[in-house]
Amino acid sequence: KLPVVAIIGRPNVGKSTLFNRLVGKKLALVDDRPGVTRDRREGDATLVGVDFRVIDTAGYEDEDAATLPGRMRQQTEAAVAQADVALFMIDARVGVVPLEEEISRWLRGSDTPIVLVANKAEGKAGEAGILESLALGYGDPVQLSAEHGEGMGDLFEALLPYI
Ligand code: GDP
Ligand code: MG
Repeated sequence: KLPVVAIIGRPNVGKSTLFNRLVGKKLALVDDRPGVTRDRREGDATLVGVDFRVIDTAGYEDEDAATLPGRMRQQTEAAVAQADVALFMIDARVGVVPLEEEISRWLRGSDTPIVLVANKAEGKAGEAGILESLALGYGDPVQLSAEHGEGMGDLFEALLPYI
């Protein structure tokens, strides 16, 4: 059985971009049950010769703002519970928003190791957000640009103890 890496975080931080970069054409499984496709995708990835399964907690496209936090919590907790390690992704250019402080509280009940990932960190636009993210208490974030493929080596190093 492959080790499982879950990518969690609020909408629009770049989770699916990282998922696509990791899984690429090897997308193994898209659950087509109603309501599931949008919420979650799984695929197999290989980094530096290590194979693992990736879960993208996705979707929320048609989401009603009032029900988003509840559905997100359910999805996030389910993915984290089945993962060997979770990547908690924020947008370095935005910094930490209240919803992410809330996600952080949900994660406190879990034994799954959490790796904080500050995405969109290309250039210097992410510096303030990266400093701000230290307050979440996960230590130095992995600085990543999922879109440009920067920081993948650091991401691999951070994952390696758990996969
Ligand atoms: P998700 O909702 O967390 O799955 O986020 P997406 O992967 O759909 O990405 C949301 C937006 O952020 C898209 O417009 C992406 O192109 C953009 N994005 C993703 N990664 C990066 C990045 O590393 N840098 C920048 N500048 N934009 C990114
Ligand atoms: Mg997505």
